[in-house]
Amino acid sequence: MNETMKRKVIIIGSGPAGLTAAIYAARGNLNPIVFEGNQPGGQLTITTEVENYPGFPKGITGPELMDLFREQAQRFGAETVFKNVTKVDFSKRPYKVWVGDEEYSSDAIIIATGATARLLGLESEKELFGYGISACATCDGFFYKDKKVLVVGGGDSAMEEALFLTKFASEVRVVHRRDEFRASQIMRERVLNHPKIKVHWNTVVEEFLGSKESGLTGAILKDTKTGTTREESCDGTFIAIGHTPNTSIFEDIIELDDNKYIVTNPGSTQTNLPGVFASGDVQDHKYRQAVTAAGSGCSAALDAEHYLETL
Ligand code: NAP
Repeated sequence: MNETMKRKVIIIGSGPAGLTAAIYAARGNLNPIVFEGNQPGGQLTITTEVENYPGFPKGITGPELMDLFREQAQRFGAETVFKNVTKVDFSKRPYKVWVGDEEYSSDAIIIATGATARLLGLESEKELFGYGISACATCDGFFYKDKKVLVVGGGDSAMEEALFLTKFASEVRVVHRRDEFRASQIMRERVLNHPKIKVHWNTVVEEFLGSKESGLTGAILKDTKTGTTREESCDGTFIAIGHTPNTSIFEDIIELDDNKYIVTNPGSTQTNLPGVFASGDVQDHKYRQAVTAAGSGCSAALDAEHYLETL
C-alpha cells in the first residue's frame, strides 16, 4: 500500500489564485504543496500580453507573469509539482487527495482550479489563439483600437464583450448561431441599439484565416439556414460562448451552484466544508481577472491559516 503524504495545506491549481495562495501559505510556514494541473500557470499562459496587472507598467506576457508568481512561491518554500489531482475524498478529516495512485492528506485544502473558456474547437482557432483570437475582451480589447473585431456568442458574456469592445474597435460584429440572443433583455437591447455593432444571425465560424506571423486576418462564416459561406475580414475575434468551471472532480463532494461553480460564503473563501477553501475563477464567474483571482488566493491562504489555528 502506498504511504500517505501529509501536508499542512494542499493547493489544487496554479493560476494567479493558486500561486498567490502558495506565496501566502508558504510565508505563513504552512509548507504548501501546489498541484499545478493540466495547464500550469492557468489561463494566463494562453494569453500574450498582459497590460492590466498592477506593477507592470510596461506590460508582461502571461507565461512570464505566471513564472514570476511560481518563483515567488518557491522562494518561501512552496513545493510546486506538475501533477494533476485525479480524485479527492473530503468525507472526513484529514482530507485526502490523489494524484494517480499517490495519496496526500491535509486538514486544509485550497481549490483554485479555475475555469476554462469554451472554444469552438477549430484547428485554426487553436493555432491563432493569442494571435488575434481571444476569450477575454477586458484582457485583450485594448489591442484593437480602430480595428474590426468579431464576437462569437449570444449570451450575456458575448453582449458584455461586444459592448466593451466598442470602446476601442471601429466595428464590432456579433456572430450568433441562432436568430435570437439568449442574453438578458437589457443587454440584448444595448447591443442591438449600438451604432458600432452589427449582428450576423444564423451564422457560425467555419474557419479562421491568418497565421501566427500575420495574426488573424479574417474568418469564413457560414449561414446556417442557406449553407452558404463567405469570407469576412477582421483583426480580432473574441470567443464568448461561456466558461466551464473546472470542478468535475468535486461534483457531489462540495456544494456547487447551478452552473457548477463552487459556492463560497459571502465575503470569504470558505466552502460548505470546514477547511476547504475556494478561490479564483472556480468560484467567481463575475470578475474573472488575474488580479481579482490573486486577491482571492490571498484570502484563501489567510482563511486556511486561521482555520488551522482553531483546530
Ligand atoms: P451562456 O449564457 O451559456 O451563452 C453562451 C452563448 O454561446 C449562447 O448564446 C450559445 O448559443 C452560444 N454558444 C455555445 N456554444 C456554442 C458553439 N459551439 N458555437 C456557437 N455558439 C455557441 O454563457 P455566458 O454568456 O458566458 O453566460 C454564463 C452565465 O453568466 C449566464 O447565466 C449569464 O447570464 C451570466 N452572465 C451575466 C452577466 C451579466 O449579468 N452582466 C455577464 C456575463 C455572464 P445558443 O444561445 O444558441 O445556445
